[in-house]
Amino acid sequence: MAEKRVKGKILIDRERCKGCRLCMDVCPNELIEVDNTLNKKGYTPARVSEKQKEKGCTGCAQCALVCPEVAIEVYRAK
Ligand code: SF4
Ligand code: SF4
Repeated sequence: MAEKRVKGKILIDRERCKGCRLCMDVCPNELIEVDNTLNKKGYTPARVSEKQKEKGCTGCAQCALVCPEVAIEVYRAK
């Protein structure tokens, strides 16, 4: 039987982000990293790492759940 792995994708709203890093700590695949370019509020926001393409986001939504600023949206695809 073919493996059915849910693939996900996240979008981070860099202007909402306050750079708390919680999402980075929680992602099991380490797909979120620091963007050293400041956003309009003066924080170094989170961004999706290039690794997302190789390793793949599972769509587990842990990053979105932990984000206090509701800056992450998770999309799931089959
Ligand atoms: S949905 Fe899960 S796997 Fe995907 S970036 Fe967020 S924590 Fe990581
Ligand atoms: S948890 Fe939210 S506010 Fe904190 S770094 Fe991640 S996206 Fe930014």
